[in-house]
Amino acid sequence: MDPVPAKGTRRCAAADEADPTPCEGRPAAVTVIARDGTQHTGCVHHTARLLASLEGARLHPSAAALPWACEVYCRAAQLPPFAWQIGR
Ligand SMILES: [Zn+2]
Repeated sequence: MDPVPAKGTRRCAAADEADPTPCEGRPAAVTVIARDGTQHTGCVHHTARLLASLEGARLHPSAAALPWACEVYCRAAQLPPFAWQIGR
């Protein structure tokens, strides 16, 4: 079985259910838009992981005005898709 987050741990909407890692920083840092238009708003950590995992995903244009958007992109560039499946 995959590890399950501790009970009562609230995480941002961008965190995958199978991803046991906690949020980092503000819970609504940026919004990731999936290829099908679905939007996922979350912390820098989880949006970067989502961005690396969803093919064709991008950040919401409003992220251009945010100083941490670059960090999300840089983190995503260094992550494999679905990093939590290999324990990262
Ligand atoms: Zn998060």
